[in-house]
Amino acid sequence: MTLHDTSYWKNKATQLSLQDKAYIDGKFVPAQDGGVLAVIDPSTGATLAQVADCQQADVDLAVAAARRAYESGVWSGLHPRERGQRLLALSALIQRDIEEFALLETLNVGKPITESLMFDLPEAIKTYAWYGEAIDKIYDEIAPTGSNALATVTREPLGVIAAVVPWNYPLLMASWKIAPALVSGNCVVVKPSELTPLSLLKLSSLMDEAGIPAGVFNVVPGTGPVAGQALGLHNDVDCLTFTGSTATGKRFMEYSGQSNLKRVWLECGGKSPHIVFDDCPDLDKAAMAAAVGITSNQGEVCIAGSRLYVQEGIYDDFMKRVSRCVQNIRPGDPLDPNTVMGAIVDERQMNKVLSYIESGKNEGATLRLGGQRVRAETGGYYIEPTIFDCPSDQLSIVNEEIFGPVLSARRFNTEEEVIACANDSIYGLGAGLWTANLGRAHRVSRKLRAGLVWVNCFFDSDITVPFGGVKQSGSGRDKSLHALDKYTDLKTSWFNLDASN
Ligand code: NAD
Repeated sequence: MTLHDTSYWKNKATQLSLQDKAYIDGKFVPAQDGGVLAVIDPSTGATLAQVADCQQADVDLAVAAARRAYESGVWSGLHPRERGQRLLALSALIQRDIEEFALLETLNVGKPITESLMFDLPEAIKTYAWYGEAIDKIYDEIAPTGSNALATVTREPLGVIAAVVPWNYPLLMASWKIAPALVSGNCVVVKPSELTPLSLLKLSSLMDEAGIPAGVFNVVPGTGPVAGQALGLHNDVDCLTFTGSTATGKRFMEYSGQSNLKRVWLECGGKSPHIVFDDCPDLDKAAMAAAVGITSNQGEVCIAGSRLYVQEGIYDDFMKRVSRCVQNIRPGDPLDPNTVMGAIVDERQMNKVLSYIESGKNEGATLRLGGQRVRAETGGYYIEPTIFDCPSDQLSIVNEEIFGPVLSARRFNTEEEVIACANDSIYGLGAGLWTANLGRAHRVSRKLRAGLVWVNCFFDSDITVPFGGVKQSGSGRDKSLHALDKYTDLKTSWFNLDASN
C-alpha cells in the first residue's frame, strides 16, 4: 500500500465527489422534506458536505424497501454461495476504491490517513471477504431422535435488520454488522452517525456493481433522536444491531419493549483496565502498548486501555517509559502520512474531553503529561495525549468513559487487589495484562470480567474471533462465525417418519 505524501492527499481531497443523499431501494434520494445536516472536517472545522437528514418518513420508505426485497426472495432465496460471491465482489470493489474510502474516513473522522489506509480499510475489506468465503461452509443440524423421526435444526434469516452505528470507525463498525447480516440472507437498513455518514454512502454506491439487488441494502443518514429512534421503534424491523454509547444502548432496549420486541444487540462503551505486573516480560513493549492503547484513533476507541494499573515495584520506572513513548506521539495533520494521532471528531467531543481533564485536576489526580488543546490555529479539534497519576479509583476520569486520549494510571500491590479494581466498573469490554507467569496469566484472565482479554499484548485481534463485552458494555458479539447467531433464528422441523404416515 502506497502512503503517498500530504500534497497527494490534499490534492485528491479537492477532486472527491461526495455522495450526500440517502440510499433507499437502490437509489440515491434526498430526504423527503429536503432537510440536510452539515458534516464537518474536524481537522479544520470546515464543512465537508450537506447530507440528507432523514426523518420518520424516510426511515419508513427504507424499511418498506428492505421488507419488499426480503419477502421477494431476491436475496434470501439465493444459494448461500451466490450471496457469498457478491460479498466477495463488494470486498474487491472496496479494495479498488481503497484510497477514496480512506480519504473519506480521514476527512470525516479526523483520523490519520495512515490509520485509515492500514487499518480501517483492510479490516473492512477482510470482513466482507471472510463472511463471503465462510457462508457456504456452515452446516445445519440433525437432532438425535429415534428412528421414527427426523428433526432438523436450521438457521433462518431474521428479515429486516437495522444497524445504528457510531462515528469512531464509521465503515468498519458498520461492516462488522452488514457483512454477517447480509450473507445470512437478511436485508439491511443502516443509520450512520450524523457526524460521519460519508463512507457508508460511498459504500452504497458500490452495491449495484457488486450485484446486491435494490432494497437489500439501504442507508438513512440522520440524527439519533429522529432517524435512530424511528428504526428502534419500527414495528417492521426484526432486529436492531447497535454500536455506540451505553446510554443510547439502553434506549434501544426500551424502544424494543415499546414496539415489537425486536431483537436488540448492543456493542456499547468501555473503560478497559490494562494491568502490568512486576514480572512483565518486556517493559518497553508493554509501555508502547500502553501509549498506543490510549492514543490510537485519538483515544476514541471503545477498547482503549484507559485505566493503567502498574505494580508498585515497577511503577516509577514503567511510567517514565510510557511517558517517553507518549511524548513522541503529537497530534498532527491527518492527511500527513507521518501523523499517528489526528483530530477529535468535533468541538463538542473535544470540550467533553477537556472538561474531563479539568475534573481530573480538581479531583486530586496529578497531571504527568499533556492536558492541552493544541493546533487551535488550524480551526481543528486537537488534544495532546494526557496522562494522570491517580491516588485512587474514586475519580470520574477513572470511572467514566472519556473517549479521548486521557490515561489514568495507578499503583497496585497484589493480584487480588488489581482484579478487584479492574472489575469494579459498570463496563466489561476489554482488559489487558502483562506477566511472565503462565499460571497468573490464566488465573487473572479468567477472573477479569471482560469480553476480550489480552495477555502480553493489547488490541491484538482478527476477524476470526468474537468482539464484544459483558455488563453494560453490551450483549452479543461482532466478528467471527458467532456474529451469524445474531442475524439468524433456529427453526426446528420435526418429520414424523412413522411407516403408517
Ligand atoms: P452514541 O450512542 O452517541 O451514538 C451511536 C449511534 O446512536 C449514532 O448513530 C447516533 O446517531 C445514534 N443515537 C444517538 N442517540 C440516539 C437516540 N436517542 N435514539 C436512537 N439513536 C441514537 O455513540 P457515539 O458517540 O457515536 O460513539 C461513541 C460510543 O460508541 C462510545 O461509548 C464507544 O465506547 C462506543 N463504541 C463501542 C464499540 C463496541 O464495539 N463496543 C465500538 C465503537 C464505539
